[in-house]
Amino acid sequence: MNAHDSEKVIGTLLSEGYQQVPTPAEAELVFYNTCSIRDKAEQKVFHRLDTFKKENKGKTFAVLGCVAQQEGEKIFEKAPHVSMVCGSASYNQLPQMLVQLESGNKRVTGLSLETDLTFETPLTRRDNPYRAYLTIIEGCDKSCAYCVVPFTRGPERSRTSQSVTKEARELAQMGYSEIQLLGQTVNSYVDPSPAGWDFATLLDQVGRIPGIRRVRFMTSHPRDFTQAIVDKIDANPALCNHVHLPVQSGSSQILAAMRRSYTRDEYLHRISLIRAAKRHITITTDIIVGFPGETEADLAATLGLLDEVQYDAIFGFKYSKRPNTAALKLGDHIPEEEKIRRLTIVQERQREIQARNNLAYVGTQQECMVEGFNKATGQWIGRTSQNKTLNFLYTGASEADLTGRYAQVRVTRSGPNSLAGEFTSHA
Ligand code: SAH
Ligand code: SF4
Repeated sequence: MNAHDSEKVIGTLLSEGYQQVPTPAEAELVFYNTCSIRDKAEQKVFHRLDTFKKENKGKTFAVLGCVAQQEGEKIFEKAPHVSMVCGSASYNQLPQMLVQLESGNKRVTGLSLETDLTFETPLTRRDNPYRAYLTIIEGCDKSCAYCVVPFTRGPERSRTSQSVTKEARELAQMGYSEIQLLGQTVNSYVDPSPAGWDFATLLDQVGRIPGIRRVRFMTSHPRDFTQAIVDKIDANPALCNHVHLPVQSGSSQILAAMRRSYTRDEYLHRISLIRAAKRHITITTDIIVGFPGETEADLAATLGLLDEVQYDAIFGFKYSKRPNTAALKLGDHIPEEEKIRRLTIVQERQREIQARNNLAYVGTQQECMVEGFNKATGQWIGRTSQNKTLNFLYTGASEADLTGRYAQVRVTRSGPNSLAGEFTSHA
């Protein structure tokens, strides 16, 4: 999501007559987009700002994103070489803010969260020529006890379905074949236009646009995950058979303390909808270990959930205290070493699950979109509809560039994190 925000900001700057240069050293104006989801990411920002200052004297600096929103004008005190701070809910204001910046104003701010606007720009400068990110909903109205996002990205606001499908059609005409619909809670999408589409309808319609071969979506909230989404995936081959459904914990007590608005059983019910699909839909998740008050029994419940769901991948995090969040007021914070221990246990259990499950792909034929070439191994890197990395050998003309094309690959080997195989034909 941050990467796509940067793409949109770059598009806005280009339309205002700025040029992009490859390194900060060559720039007059340095924009730094930031993340504050965990403390470590935030600490990096101030460290990096310090380095920028030493290496890039006399330049103008702007800090964007969640650290900008969270720290606001305090950034001017902590890093006096910064002249602008702007949170993501204010990117619409960038053209006016740039005028202020160019006229010598040393403290330009865009920090309002009171917006019902989404950030749409026709000039988004996308990094990848084949797979495009497309935001359909911004902000978040949930209030998970650990999470800073509602404070940094503002309230939920959806784009109209007409605006989304128009951009998707334009992307298809430009040659993009894969679209990733984005939102903090992408499936909480509510079309503000009279058409009134729900998320499942929008997903399906984007997948029906000629030229679009693959549609992905990130991140779904379990509360808003419906049978209709599964039905659309089943019926429309352009919709990738992969769902990222963050659970955070396998313990209903911890889920309640996290204010996730579902129990373990309710989450497992959503999983059963996905497992009942005709297509084999892979499932990935996010896990937080060491949330305040998490006991050994809670950890065991999370491990049991991993066994039960058999995820294809997980993103595991140690709980990190974030400003303004409700969890700060909870007692019984878990020591850092203990969080590390728990995360290791979770990751080891998951590694075994992945190693075992990926074995089942050996001998199968998979279609993948080619993402690039690994010079070190001499293999092409592909991604399957199920979001598995599939490295493969190509025996055709050595100068051929397969990037962005679709290949049929026979899987010959597997590991916990990827599959490997041999090219059989262009798809
Ligand atoms: N909106 C998405 C994800 C948001 S952030 C959702 O609700 O699923 C991505 C992931 O970062 C979260 O799923 C969570 O696992 C993790 N995360 C968020 N805040 C965190 C915190 N304070 N400490 C540790 N991990 C956190
Ligand atoms: Fe954060 Fe929860 Fe919103 Fe996800 S749903 S962004 S975890 S508050």
